[in-house]
Amino acid sequence: MKWTETLIPTLREAPSDAEILSHKLLLRAGLIRKLAGGVYTFLPLGLRVLRKVEQIIREEMDRAGAIEVLMPALQPREIWEQTGRAETAKGVLFKVRDGADREWFLSPTAEEVITTLAAHEISSYRQLPRNFYQISTKFRDEIRPRFGLMRAKEFIMKDAYSFDVSDAAAMASYQKMYAAYHRIFDRCGLQNFPVEADSGVIGGSHSHEFMVPADTGENEVVFCEACGYAANREKATSGVPGTAAREPGGAPEQFATPGVVTIEALSREPYGVAAHRQIKTLVYLVEDSPVLVLIRGDDQLNETKFSARTGGLTFRPATPEECVEILGARPGSLGAVRRVPAEVRVLADERLRGANDMTTGANEDGFHLRHVAMDRDVRVSDWFDLRTVAAGEPCVKCGQPLNIRRAIEVGHVFKLGTKYSEKLGASYLDESGARRPCVMGCYGIGVTRTLQAIIEQGNDKDGIIWPLSVAPYQVCLTPLQVAAGHPVMELAETLYRELTARGVEVLLDDRDERPGVKFKDADLVGFPIRVAIGEKSLARGQVEIKPRRGALLAVDCAAAVSGIMAQLQPPG
Ligand code: ATP
Ligand code: MG
Repeated sequence: MKWTETLIPTLREAPSDAEILSHKLLLRAGLIRKLAGGVYTFLPLGLRVLRKVEQIIREEMDRAGAIEVLMPALQPREIWEQTGRAETAKGVLFKVRDGADREWFLSPTAEEVITTLAAHEISSYRQLPRNFYQISTKFRDEIRPRFGLMRAKEFIMKDAYSFDVSDAAAMASYQKMYAAYHRIFDRCGLQNFPVEADSGVIGGSHSHEFMVPADTGENEVVFCEACGYAANREKATSGVPGTAAREPGGAPEQFATPGVVTIEALSREPYGVAAHRQIKTLVYLVEDSPVLVLIRGDDQLNETKFSARTGGLTFRPATPEECVEILGARPGSLGAVRRVPAEVRVLADERLRGANDMTTGANEDGFHLRHVAMDRDVRVSDWFDLRTVAAGEPCVKCGQPLNIRRAIEVGHVFKLGTKYSEKLGASYLDESGARRPCVMGCYGIGVTRTLQAIIEQGNDKDGIIWPLSVAPYQVCLTPLQVAAGHPVMELAETLYRELTARGVEVLLDDRDERPGVKFKDADLVGFPIRVAIGEKSLARGQVEIKPRRGALLAVDCAAAVSGIMAQLQPPG
């Protein structure tokens, strides 16, 4: 391909709304253009990279025995009603109506569609296991689309769905995908690692996210260097000790705390109640039902854990006025000892189990209660792990201190069980003729997010550094004289033909531009190899090969092709 015959609109400056480096580079290197917030056009070079990432995914999915299909982006509302997700996933659903006023959803994922297909097409254990995948456009009404392709409203995802006869068989399918994901991200040149993850709205019991470490990542990963434990902070637990035992003391005793509405204020003199001896009481409305959360004063509530324990329904903190209505006091004086209506569900964090001699709000503005014993004085509906892990806490597996770092979620594998197959009737007849639900798993990769993650990891001050496996072109030929018939241009065209004939992907920069402009653009786009041909080097009988990540090599013209080919070999 010749530079002047395609579209590579490089920019010196990134548009001001591009926040992170990879987003800026996508725009500056002329790979994508924004149509609207979270909606992008792929330009020719961006599309070439996208196709390569897709191809790596396709090869590894095929190798793992998955079967490619293509499902519709338009999904009838009814199948989402059947699984209950028309309600639980409504926050991200794009809805459209046809002329007959029928409602459709634009595919954010495809569990409902594939399970409906399996319900019709799978009937016997002889047809199992099966794993279907597709690479297609997905739509999610993200409230805050940002960082370019990282969090878009329309993006490309690979999604796969496995169907098995049993839990054990489903686990084997899961392991195959897990291994395939490692290979995919390795081939994309990404540092990547799996972490234990929350299953979220999708449901299911077991899940891992594949993470790419990056300071701009939207996820926090808790990990242990000593034993390898790693989990999304949304899900991570630690081995923190419970609350130290004390004598229960007498009955709860009310004391005046005028103007004291924070944990911190109560920990100061004259009260001096250490934060870890306080019970923090939070009031949430889950749909419309009030739920109290009790957590130790020095801990933070993890809203993902809370959501997982309240059925993934929509929730929000109660307003101060609602707190008064429910408990008779405003935030700062709330507690769960007195005046808690019987119908209010009370969730308590495990770390409070058995805690004695605690202090909490009295449900009367300006008053607290001391000598509270959890087991004696508080009606707890359910005990859960609800707190957020902090760096330095002991690892839940080995006791060594935990670290936290930021990362980008590029893939996610779930064990789904029979949640979808039961609701949509995907069952099979086993060897004895009994009907049983298929045991499912689902497996996603953000294809466009992966593309951007590669840039986030591979760049320097001059621009992108593509791994060979996904570079838009492997070689950029840069003749410094481009007039037809000029010996420099003739050599460039010869090299172009010879390399292309050997299967190398070459871009010929035939623009009549200053060398500096051409070199800067080649570095910005990040071709793995740039080959400069100019009058001076030609006079010496040489061309200059410059690997994007290495030192410049002057090579005799006659050895140029083999010199370039040598650079294209993977190291080792
Ligand atoms: P996130 O937590 O980042 O919102 P998710 O957990 O909702 O993502 P999944 O349902 O697990 O996403 O989707 C599978 C993969 O699709 C994710 O691992 C991610 O790589 C990608 N993905 C999800 N949402 C987006 C988005 N809005 N833009 C780009 N890629 C996305
Ligand atoms: Mg996910």
